[in-house]
Amino acid sequence: MAYEFGPLSIDELGVKQLFTNRLGGFSKGAYLSFNMGLATSDNSDDLASNYNKLKDELCLGDYYFVRTKQTHSNNIQIVDKTFLAAANGKEISIDNCDGLITDEIGVVLATYYADCTPAFFLDKKKKVVGVNHSGWRGTRNEISKDMIDIFINVYGSNPKDIMVFIGPNISKCCYEVSEDLYHEFKDFHEYKVIEASKTKKGKYYLDMKKAIQVTVLKTGVLEDNIFISEECTSCLDQKFYSYRRDNKHTGRMSGMMWLEK
Ligand SMILES: [Zn+2]
Repeated sequence: MAYEFGPLSIDELGVKQLFTNRLGGFSKGAYLSFNMGLATSDNSDDLASNYNKLKDELCLGDYYFVRTKQTHSNNIQIVDKTFLAAANGKEISIDNCDGLITDEIGVVLATYYADCTPAFFLDKKKKVVGVNHSGWRGTRNEISKDMIDIFINVYGSNPKDIMVFIGPNISKCCYEVSEDLYHEFKDFHEYKVIEASKTKKGKYYLDMKKAIQVTVLKTGVLEDNIFISEECTSCLDQKFYSYRRDNKHTGRMSGMMWLEK
């Protein structure tokens, strides 16, 4: 199966949230097999076949896809009626953008990963969905706080109505970083999101999932409404691409979210 629905997929609300994996696609070699990364050097026919499979199986043929071109920024695009009117039906990859949010029905928000952390958001009362890409920079700069601020300030959300899913990433087991990141995360030290290696001098292990959870809790989201994947993209080599494990030459998973027509 090339994708799995996550805990924010709620049929009675018409909300879908998924994360793709590398299984069951058409790509070859380092991209084997369900590569979603349009910006990789993968064969364009294979990429098109992967997207067609996804659209066919999920009946997304007449949905509008909006994509990020991620730069580890805190930039989040609000996909509203003004944005859609300007796009005029033409599918867009938004430059220098690491998050997307919408309350428009029939719009697939698509973001891309190979170790960084996908964070998905749903206001179940207002029916607003969002997803952002959070590497160490976005995690340190708390892009997930910026996302929740948009829910509150633009869509009138109450944080108590917001559900969050922190998806598969390179987890604490594998995310070895150097001492400079320990200092970058000084504001998180009390939460022990980064800890020294027991065996390697000057090396640390960073837990991005926990850091994002800390950020989200500070905004007033309830602990019971935060769901955290236990999967590590680096450990699960048959299931996920990993930029670090695969020495940069690899495909991309996609984190997608939409409101059904
Ligand atoms: Zn791991």
